[in-house]
Amino acid sequence: MDIINKDKKFNVTCIGLNDFGEGEFKVGKSIYSVNNLLPKEKAIVIENDYQGIKKFQLYKITSPSKLRCDVNCKVYNKCGGCQLLHMSYDNQIKFKVDYVNKCFKEKKINAKVMEIVKADFIDGYRNKMQVAYKLKDKDIIYGFYEDKTHRIINNNYCQVQSKEQNEIANNVAKIMKELSIPPYNEDKRTGLIRFLIVRFSVYSKEILVTIVTNGKEFKARSEFVKRLRARCPYISTIVQNINTRKTSIILGDEEIVLFGKGYITEEINGIKFNISSQTFFQVNPYQVSKLYSKVSEYLALTNKETVIDCYCGVGTIGMILAPSAKVVYGVESNKISVLNARNNSYNNKIKNIHFVIDDATDYLNKLAKENVKIDALVLDPPRSGSTELFLNSVNKLKPNKVCYVSCEASTLARDLQILLKEYVIKKVGIVDMFVGTYHVETVVLLTRKDLK
Ligand code: SAH
Repeated sequence: MDIINKDKKFNVTCIGLNDFGEGEFKVGKSIYSVNNLLPKEKAIVIENDYQGIKKFQLYKITSPSKLRCDVNCKVYNKCGGCQLLHMSYDNQIKFKVDYVNKCFKEKKINAKVMEIVKADFIDGYRNKMQVAYKLKDKDIIYGFYEDKTHRIINNNYCQVQSKEQNEIANNVAKIMKELSIPPYNEDKRTGLIRFLIVRFSVYSKEILVTIVTNGKEFKARSEFVKRLRARCPYISTIVQNINTRKTSIILGDEEIVLFGKGYITEEINGIKFNISSQTFFQVNPYQVSKLYSKVSEYLALTNKETVIDCYCGVGTIGMILAPSAKVVYGVESNKISVLNARNNSYNNKIKNIHFVIDDATDYLNKLAKENVKIDALVLDPPRSGSTELFLNSVNKLKPNKVCYVSCEASTLARDLQILLKEYVIKKVGIVDMFVGTYHVETVVLLTRKDLK
């Protein structure tokens, strides 16, 4: 814990949780929050300014709540990765249900969570680990960023990542030191290794390692690969991704495969998906099949429907729906994801699906102008949600069923307000994709008002 000024300690009482699962308290007249504090708990917090912003860190809980759980993480108070590990699993779920219901209420949406799909695995579930490296007192440290900052929190073991992911991250730091490979320095823009990304497949057990470098030149490349493979023989493939940009975007466009085939294969609901370092894939492979099954269950297709899968990524939802639809069109703005989606449908011999590289709003607006007949529509936008024009186009196209998959309930509620001009909400479910974090995945089924 960085104690900047011992005098800046405050005794506080938690007055409730905010939307990020942080415990709120008052200092003077203002309300602040820290991670790892439960309602009614008393604690000592330390004021700790960061880049001119007044922030607090938890120093000590002086009167713990009965609802508190042990956390197997040394950096929990600082790290931005997880926020709810100190709550029992049932309390985590309650927090998520309450959040979705609160977002609905705020937008005057007359619906509540009706179904909850819990997770079976709480530890080691994340199929993607992403850590940054940094030089500190001649040592190479690594970890995730502190919440809302670019300060790396040194952490040698993360409980939501797998044992292998942790081992690889650890060995990369050791090998960097042995071979004098400097980590990237964000301020000076010097050094070589910026990030390490490790992804695994539950189905094939393959592991993809991506080393993000600040430049193409990587002199120790072959020795680095040799040592890493010798120490972590379970690695299936290693890729160097080059990112010289001054940006917080992790990956660059250029890639060199250093070992293996450059991608791994995951299987969900009997369909195989190739995952490369550039591909978006849901982070919880154990829950993702439950999420997609929920979408299938809600839409209950009968082989006759024309379906549109909007914001389709690598085509996962559309490909799972295709066997029970007449035809599926997937639309996605990321070109690499669409190329992956096309390869995935080809490899799985799914012939009634077609993918379009386009902005989802532009695409739907075009379809609405042409008055194309659509029976069912899925949308799974990023956290920022969809657009007014997209949603009004849905209202014009009037598919019988709309299934909205959302990873941010506040934008979901905002968007539902527009869809509710033509639709009614039939079902609302949450699938716990992001165990230990405040993030919640919600699935909503809407049907046409006029067909009620
Ligand atoms: N349904 C997929 C992906 C969901 S993530 C799955 O379950 O894996 C959201 C996707 O929306 C990302 O792939 C992102 O690239 C895409 N996206 C973001 N903005 C978009 C836009 N304006 N038009 C089309 N796709 C967009």
